Amino acid sequence: MRFDVVTIFPDMFGPVFAQGVIGRAIERGVVQLHAHDLRDFTHDRHRQVDDMPFGGGPGMVMKPEPVIEAVESIRRENTGPVILMEPWGERLDQGIVRELAANPGLIIVCGRYEGIDDRVRTALATREISIGDYVLSGGEIPAMVLIDAVARLVPGIVGDPASLAQDSFSDEPAGWPQFTRPAEYRGLMVPDVLLSGDHARIKQWRRRQAAERSSTHTKELKKT
Ligand code: SAH
Repeated sequence: MRFDVVTIFPDMFGPVFAQGVIGRAIERGVVQLHAHDLRDFTHDRHRQVDDMPFGGGPGMVMKPEPVIEAVESIRRENTGPVILMEPWGERLDQGIVRELAANPGLIIVCGRYEGIDDRVRTALATREISIGDYVLSGGEIPAMVLIDAVARLVPGIVGDPASLAQDSFSDEPAGWPQFTRPAEYRGLMVPDVLLSGDHARIKQWRRRQAAERSSTHTKELKKT
């Protein structure tokens, strides 16, 4: 799967995705990640990507031309949907992550300042996505959240596919409390049932725990 990101801070992405399972997937070429510098798509000496808002008000707005030219250029190699990271977009959840993971690629645009000229959205956005109801200073961290969540669903990235099946919000009730050795640590015990070897009882215990864990989680379980 291929991710192309349009950003004024392309250097933010390298270090984050050099680590862990996604880092290894990029090394193996299973996942491709290209962070494009928006300023490379400007034509003026100052490489300006922002301008004052029409109608007045504080702050600056991202100009439409460089973003649109960047996406047009990327589209020659990536036919996936164009995602704008926006605080007012639809809230990212595991259902959206699964839908997005079915694409051969994604093109992700990161906003800065007061946001992106709305003509970018009308001209080429497939979807606007928010990672939650709070405002960050830019779309880069939201884009990283999205890329991480989508990339780990690409076949072969998470070593044992069973661990995806047991994720929270997957089809099976999941997200139960996990324990590893030692069985006792400073008087804190691992629940007996997990040491019992009784797989039916363990399964039942895990389902119950998962369902109780959080109200959103429980809601999600009822949907599936
Ligand atoms: N004044 C704007 C906020 C702009 S924040 C507003 O209230 O809508 C600047 C950029 O950060 C946005 O264009 C977007 O790309 C990114 N961003 C901020 N918070 C975000 C969130 N919760 N989810 C996704 N992107 C976000």
